[in-house]
Amino acid sequence: MTTAKQLYALQEVDLDLDRVGRALAEAAEELKTEISIGNLEAALQAEEERLKDLETRQHDNRMETAVRRERSESLEARLYDGSMVNPRDLESLQQEAANVRNLLEQNEAMSLELSIQIEESQTRCADLSIELTGVKARWETRQDELNRIVSRLQAERSDYEKQRALLAGQVEQAALQRYETLRKSKGGRAVAKVERDLCQGCRMSLPTQLRQRVKSGRQTVNCSSCGRMLFVE
Ligand SMILES: [Zn+2]
Repeated sequence: MTTAKQLYALQEVDLDLDRVGRALAEAAEELKTEISIGNLEAALQAEEERLKDLETRQHDNRMETAVRRERSESLEARLYDGSMVNPRDLESLQQEAANVRNLLEQNEAMSLELSIQIEESQTRCADLSIELTGVKARWETRQDELNRIVSRLQAERSDYEKQRALLAGQVEQAALQRYETLRKSKGGRAVAKVERDLCQGCRMSLPTQLRQRVKSGRQTVNCSSCGRMLFVE
């Protein structure tokens, strides 16, 4: 006959297997996640694109400035070289020269604003890059650690599986099935020890008659309160 004590020994190994299984799942889950690295990489990429755009705008603005400056200088030269005799022509030339000067001022203000933004963006890119390097290094260390943990847990699991096969082999098939069904519905604990007349599964005191039946060890006795199989050492 299969005793509750045998099943309790099996349960000890099963609980270890549960624990190892959970730890392995956690490690596998963590190994899959590189969220912080992905976010940082995306932020750095976005900032680098912004910087490139700012630099393009700065370049275009400089080209425009050069063209306008040349135009402005030629207009100013014509204004004062004495070639303008018609007052209406002179007035229209003065107007045009003033317009170009105005546009040049706008270019210069834009150039200043873009320089400030470019400098800020460069600082942000450098900061993000440093942060990313740090996070990557820490992640590599953690990955090594996790891989070591996984190897250790896998070795542990293999040992427990061998122990389990040995113990399960000594148990009757019907008892094993009852144990497994009960274990599923009782949070992994199908068998409970009786200590100081208390069921250690639910901490309830056992009726005298039940206690005596457990002590006799002749049959499987279930706790009248939680339904677990009981045994005394
Ligand atoms: Zn109980």
